[in-house]
Amino acid sequence: MKICWPLLAVSSIGFVFAGCQVNPVTGENEFNLYSVEQQKQMGAEYSKEVEKQLGQSVKDQQLQSYLDSVGQKIVRVCHTPTEGFSYKAIDSNTVNAFALPGGYIYITTGLLKALNTEAQLASILAHETAHVTARHSAVTMSRDLIINAGVSAVGEGMAGTAASIITQLQGMSYSREHERQADQIGLDYLVKAGYTPYGIIETMEILQRQSGSRTIEFFSTHPNPENRIGYLQKEIAAKGYRGEGKTGQSEYRTNVLSRLGK
Ligand SMILES: [Zn+2]
Repeated sequence: MKICWPLLAVSSIGFVFAGCQVNPVTGENEFNLYSVEQQKQMGAEYSKEVEKQLGQSVKDQQLQSYLDSVGQKIVRVCHTPTEGFSYKAIDSNTVNAFALPGGYIYITTGLLKALNTEAQLASILAHETAHVTARHSAVTMSRDLIINAGVSAVGEGMAGTAASIITQLQGMSYSREHERQADQIGLDYLVKAGYTPYGIIETMEILQRQSGSRTIEFFSTHPNPENRIGYLQKEIAAKGYRGEGKTGQSEYRTNVLSRLGK
């Protein structure tokens, strides 16, 4: 049995938290200070800040609802389908995607323009959704809070300011273990939602080709795609996933590329 040690540390410095929760993906008990409700509150708060700092929400409602409809296909097959997720495009030439706690998932127009198919889009949304269902940001923030608790007031550390949290999230260091897990779970979600597993491989190849020509923010928070292509290919073979499943090239062209003037 896995023991949730950080809870003891918290108790010993006098704070009382329900510090351990069962992770919906792994089924293991782990240190996480934030209830689903609190994660949602944080996400709602930070999402306002995202749009202030990183880029306005794309005004084109048809594009937004298409994006959300692809996201909701992933939600239906994920570990926590009733928790509520939203998928939004933000107007920014950077190439990035990220998830806030509570299921607020963002993708930039820079990244949308680099993709060619719905399956590629779904692979990114699936990866980000997996970060949320596996509680990666809540767990990382809980650990950081304990590290910081010794030097700052706990109330302050827990809430942070929305602005500083966004800065943190942009440079957020999910561990390698978290990234690999999000890739593996994301692959399962992608296939269960009816898409070709090669959507994720193609996405990695696209990002890799772009990496030589300009800075890609996706890389600052994600491991090098070259390694990921290797282990994802092994994973596809090991799980017996076949290349069947939706690609959705014309849907993507109609609903995203042509609407973004590409
Ligand atoms: Zn990731």
